[in-house]
Amino acid sequence: MRIGQGYDAHRFTPGRPLILGGVEIDYPLGMEAHSDGDVLIHALCDALLGAAGLRDIGYHFPDSSAEYKNIDSRHLLTRVMGLLDKEGWMLGNADITVVAQAPKLSPHIESMREHMSEDLRTPLKNINIKATTTEGMGFAWRGEGIACYAVVLLQTVTDQPL
Ligand code: MG
Repeated sequence: MRIGQGYDAHRFTPGRPLILGGVEIDYPLGMEAHSDGDVLIHALCDALLGAAGLRDIGYHFPDSSAEYKNIDSRHLLTRVMGLLDKEGWMLGNADITVVAQAPKLSPHIESMREHMSEDLRTPLKNINIKATTTEGMGFAWRGEGIACYAVVLLQTVTDQPL
């Protein structure tokens, strides 16, 4: 088994959709980014790549490349899973924490989990997503952006499923 962690943060900007965990959330601000700005998926990709010892999302999908402009981050996640397939890894479980003052994420958590369980090809119980605020401190509290932390466990395809 191998553990990996990932972190990402993006700034709010008007005129862009807000997409988290593959779910479009109705909110007047979206994420400033080269891709669709899905911080949850970016943190998750970094955790998966980290666990496999395969560097990071910026190495595989550089934001200088026109190929990834406004790309649906679920495509990036699918490609990361393809890299793990080649190395014989599958997901054990993922635990994800989104740090945001607003919008309220609890109504969207279940659909995010469903999307991630589909993309990571694992039962729903292996995907946990939490949301938290920062109690008056920092950029999340000031509503400047959203951050996300992800931790994953990988297991070899020959292991018994967790
Ligand atoms: Mg990012």
